[in-house]
Amino acid sequence: MFKTADMQGNGIAVITINRLSRVEFTKGRRNRLFISPQTMYNEPVDDCYRLIEMKGEDITMNRMISFILAAALMFSTTALAEGIDYMVLVNKQHQLPEGWEDALEIIKVKNSVGEEVEAEKKTYEAYLALAEALEREDGIHIELDSGRRSVAEQQRIWDNYIVKYGEEYTRKTVAVPGYSEHQTGLAIDLYFITADGTTVYYNEDLTKEEYFGVWDKIHEKLAKHGFILRYLKGKEAITGYDYEPWHLRYIDDPAVAQEIMEKGVTLEEYLGQLP
Ligand SMILES: [Zn+2]
Repeated sequence: MFKTADMQGNGIAVITINRLSRVEFTKGRRNRLFISPQTMYNEPVDDCYRLIEMKGEDITMNRMISFILAAALMFSTTALAEGIDYMVLVNKQHQLPEGWEDALEIIKVKNSVGEEVEAEKKTYEAYLALAEALEREDGIHIELDSGRRSVAEQQRIWDNYIVKYGEEYTRKTVAVPGYSEHQTGLAIDLYFITADGTTVYYNEDLTKEEYFGVWDKIHEKLAKHGFILRYLKGKEAITGYDYEPWHLRYIDDPAVAQEIMEKGVTLEEYLGQLP
């Protein structure tokens, strides 16, 4: 059940319950308990907090750890039942899991061309960190082209592509409504603004050879922030999509993302879910 239960410096206990949940306790002037991701645990956090406050200031770290272990045990089943699975597979064969949208916490933002974009909360936070690192270290300014889409929005995009590019290209490029990874909130499409202020936005411009180097720099930083490149070159038969340098997928765990990126495999291959 628990992968680790260790003491760190400064009176901090960290217990990793599973991929989705982690309990942290800081003993100090004010005893504080964190359960991560907090959004899954609105009620339990409050319960834990009250219980710990009742135990008072003089409680030993060992007693505190045993208490947290008990609390974590209580909540770990809730975590799996109610949390979102950041490794979820949604593709042409796998539909968005039932009840997914109820568990999703969404952030809405406007991009540089004034479009409203939505993304799952942690995905958006990771995107911000990625954008900041790219700006600071590489002078690359990325923007969100699209993030989470509802089924209705996916339908609208599908219809637009049919008109603009025809059915054959649309089938290769756009997901059938209900089967788009964008509906998870964990997939984002990027565009960028070059140093001279040019917005490079459309697919046909983003794939120009002059920008290969920009994409390389972006892709190098993905895993560190919990992202993978989803639609790889040469893996079209597995993903069902052409190569898309802009389509990122948040999977939360940087170590797993690193492994996937280093091996150069698709999420389908990593999960053993070939079509
Ligand atoms: Zn996309």
